[in-house]
Amino acid sequence: MNQQDEILRKVAAEVSVCQRCQLSYSRKKAVPGEGPSNAEVMFIGEGPGFYENEQGRPFVGAAGKFLDELLQRSGLKRESVFITNVVKCRPPGNRDPLPEELAACNDYLERQIQAINPLVIVTLGRYSMARFLPNVRISDVHGKARWLDGRLIVPMFHPAAALHQPSLKSAVLEDFSKLAGYIQQARQNRQTSKASQPVVEREQEKEEPPQPTQLSLF
Ligand code: URA
Ligand code: SF4
Repeated sequence: MNQQDEILRKVAAEVSVCQRCQLSYSRKKAVPGEGPSNAEVMFIGEGPGFYENEQGRPFVGAAGKFLDELLQRSGLKRESVFITNVVKCRPPGNRDPLPEELAACNDYLERQIQAINPLVIVTLGRYSMARFLPNVRISDVHGKARWLDGRLIVPMFHPAAALHQPSLKSAVLEDFSKLAGYIQQARQNRQTSKASQPVVEREQEKEEPPQPTQLSLF
């Protein structure tokens, strides 16, 4: 197992028994997230819902079915992307996560992002978006990609919201249709920045990957 897999496994093990916030009292199963450690794309939702809490897996309910359809339309295999949430335990009655819950859970997501180092992060819904792009409105920025720490952040509407609102649904379909292009752009960007590094640095990188800069968001 490589180092990235080990980090993801450790995070998942910690999450499954975590008591860092009050959501631990009401959860049935914590939902660390799933996908390969070399995923190019990471999808980050809000938090587990009813079925996710039962099964311990992300996006397996109605919103998950819609996400599966969106992935398929974008030519992405679910098994090839990493899917997780900003809080790993279900907020009771699917209420919004509280600031202290987001703060308590942030370290797990941070470690997942550092381990995977995805080219593209798609945020699903407002809470996930706010972690990367504070002070923007989803209605203004959905579907538009922004560079952050050498990757593209693409905010999208939450599939659960889009399921029930036709105007959001067509926006989500259109936004997802841009995804393949964004992935391509981010691949090229990463290749170019690798190629432009001095050889000495590239040699060092093989043994000791540099720690990407911390996101400071809270
Ligand atoms: N909604 C989310 O935000 N995350 C899930 O895992 C499921 C539904
Ligand atoms: Fe721990 Fe996150 Fe679950 Fe809170 S939501 S108990 S911080 S894993």
